[in-house]
Amino acid sequence: MTETILRLLTRLSEAGDDAILPGELAAPFFGPVFDRLLAKRIVVEQAPLSDWEVCDACECGLPFRPIRKVGDAFRAECPFDHRQDIELTKDDLRVFRIGAAALASVIGAAAGFGAAPELAAENVWHLGDTPSGRAVFLAMEPAALTGDGIIASLRQAAQGADITILAPKLPPETAQRHQDAGFHLVETLAVLIPASDGLGVAIDVAALAPVPLAPVLRVRRATAEVQWDSRSVILSRQIFPVFERLLEKAMSRDQVASGAHVEGTTAREAKDLIRELRDAFKAAGFTDAESKALIMTVRGRGYRLGVVAADIVVED
Ligand SMILES: [Zn+2]
Repeated sequence: MTETILRLLTRLSEAGDDAILPGELAAPFFGPVFDRLLAKRIVVEQAPLSDWEVCDACECGLPFRPIRKVGDAFRAECPFDHRQDIELTKDDLRVFRIGAAALASVIGAAAGFGAAPELAAENVWHLGDTPSGRAVFLAMEPAALTGDGIIASLRQAAQGADITILAPKLPPETAQRHQDAGFHLVETLAVLIPASDGLGVAIDVAALAPVPLAPVLRVRRATAEVQWDSRSVILSRQIFPVFERLLEKAMSRDQVASGAHVEGTTAREAKDLIRELRDAFKAAGFTDAESKALIMTVRGRGYRLGVVAADIVVED
């Protein structure tokens, strides 16, 4: 894949707050696009370097070697061995800090989000919501997704919408935690594709939703049996009516059942009934995330089945 300056900046941003773009990596990109990045403060030029790392295995004992101006060029000199001197150009000495918030804003725009991203947690931005209603977040560095409260913070910012997180490759345990929460993880660099216009990148919004499994949900009323994703659950006579109330809503226009609707004529609270229903699916081998994907909470409104009417077959 052709390298673009924004892909390079995205990769370098994985270093977090200290992310910098060295002049030697920036130089091939100098030109009108780079000037626009400077103007938008996506890259912010810092004071030029005045020293350089010492040469490999050098015994000079210096922390750095000084850079000396030699005519129009510069030279990092080894006090021991001049064959180790490095000739540097003016561009090599330039250094740019990467403005994470400004970069987030460009990545959001590349995915077609009109509004500026909002900070949802430390170093995690809410880029916007897709036309199908997924809340899309961006984390530049893996560390931003490891905090204790991160799952709750993202849920709060998403306000009940399904969540997609654009992020660098995450450590397996961090990725697992987010997947268990029902979040869809997408590697930013996998979807940030070169484009010929603007700042040179685009994101296809279709790539931000999970590939739908589209399993058919099959319900047999007579036996209170529910089949989904090649597994089967027989619900108890107490809990099946709760499922039926969600089912009835799923087949209607507004697919969300309020808590009161879920409770029906039972004397029990909706959240307890929903938990019991999910537990029945888990007991049949569904993961916690799967049971919550099938019996979804719609924050502030109630509950719904995570299957559209077209994918539901009901038999008596
Ligand atoms: Zn040396």
